[in-house]
Amino acid sequence: MATSTIRIKKTCKWCRKEFEAQKTSTQFCSKRCAEHAYKERKRQEKKKQVETSEVERVAAGREKKLQDNQYLSVVESAQLLNRTRFGIYKLIYRGVLRAYRISGQWTVIKRADIDAMIEARPYERKPKASYLATDENGEAITEFYTTREIIEKFGVSNSWVFAQAKRHNIPKVYHRGKTLWSKEHCNRVFAAKPEPPKDEDWISYSDVRAEYNLTHDQIHNYVKYHGLRRKKVGKYTYILRSEIDAILRPPML
Ligand SMILES: [Zn+2]
Repeated sequence: MATSTIRIKKTCKWCRKEFEAQKTSTQFCSKRCAEHAYKERKRQEKKKQVETSEVERVAAGREKKLQDNQYLSVVESAQLLNRTRFGIYKLIYRGVLRAYRISGQWTVIKRADIDAMIEARPYERKPKASYLATDENGEAITEFYTTREIIEKFGVSNSWVFAQAKRHNIPKVYHRGKTLWSKEHCNRVFAAKPEPPKDEDWISYSDVRAEYNLTHDQIHNYVKYHGLRRKKVGKYTYILRSEIDAILRPPML
């Protein structure tokens, strides 16, 4: 079998001279050029290795410094916990991680608060045992109602729960997409009968029932057909005494 007579024009990758190769994979014009190229490649690899270890050394040093810092920025906290900045802000907004805003652009996170956040959440199956919510005395809150539980237990509406929670600053935590409210605070806030509207002579449905000897449906029909004004406070509905009086007043003879 004859040797290949193919001649391919190529440029040497080392000396840039043109030469004729017999194989498409040939890169160098001579053994000498190939050796030069090989040595250079090895030199570059070595250099890169040194640079990488230097970068790692610096990173390790920075991490060591982060470990020792008492106060961290959001970015540093993100580095320390290997999260994104956004991830850290999410923890802050959810009330999981305590942070201090010194000025508009300056947020400080205490190293101790990061440790507290972690320690409050050991991996365990029982979900309600550990939360980072504290009451007015700094005591940890461990018992919660879901919003649904409050609605059912106290007979209030969803919006009422959130309105009262805001007004009375009921401590809350988030768990698996649900808001959980401090049980003790809820018992205090929702057990008390809401204040009736004061500015005018409002009377609750249940009082109308008792005083005027009407059923709920009768009141409801009066309200509907006479267009009486209504006010809802929690689970209680109020109407104006003057308006129900006007309807029930005996016709003038
Ligand atoms: Zn060459």
